Amino acid sequence: MRVLVVEDEKKVASFIKRGLEEESFDVDVAHDGEEGLYMAESNPYDLILMDIMLPKMDGLTAIQELRKKDIGTPVLCLTAKDTVDDIVKGLDSGSDDYLTKPFAFAELLARVRTLVRRGQQDRGAEIRFADLRLDPVAHKVWRGNKEIDLTAKEYSLLEYFMRNPNQVLTRTQIAEHVWDYTFDSFTNIIDVYVNYLRKKVDKDYDKKLIHTVRGVGYVLKED
Ligand code: CA
Repeated sequence: MRVLVVEDEKKVASFIKRGLEEESFDVDVAHDGEEGLYMAESNPYDLILMDIMLPKMDGLTAIQELRKKDIGTPVLCLTAKDTVDDIVKGLDSGSDDYLTKPFAFAELLARVRTLVRRGQQDRGAEIRFADLRLDPVAHKVWRGNKEIDLTAKEYSLLEYFMRNPNQVLTRTQIAEHVWDYTFDSFTNIIDVYVNYLRKKVDKDYDKKLIHTVRGVGYVLKED
């Protein structure tokens, strides 16, 4: 389980990091909102712990930015301010739960476990994009009513696209997520697989969903 802690108070951040690492979580720390947002966008975390009062960009704005980009990682807000207003604002902006500082580590751990579990259950839920439908439990894919037969790699590639729609995915990102490996000079294998996938997902349909972004990578989008 990978957790991102966005917290500018170094003592609090290292207290959380140490505690979670003892519970076998992998923990990264960011010390301001911009860094936190950047890390959350570029790594697949299972949970984000987000302080509200942060330098450069406040936590609520960072959460809004993430949600705008369709990144649905569960977020637990850490707030020193216990006014109802701030908490409501936090939940409106897309955070999943909050904890008021100061908190006991046991309380934090209980919330973390609940959110991680919930996030994993969500990952079992069907994913839809345009007329594509993917069942992550059965590993099945449909376009409209037609089931599409994919190999394991093609399936993983499509799942990665569908979990990150409307975002340009670089070949490096695709290699790291789908092959768990950095390919560097072998990135044409990705082009080959994207072409396999296109033949099955797009070829027989007027509306193409997988688009090439020249010199950068690929994007799953509707036009
Ligand atoms: Ca703070």
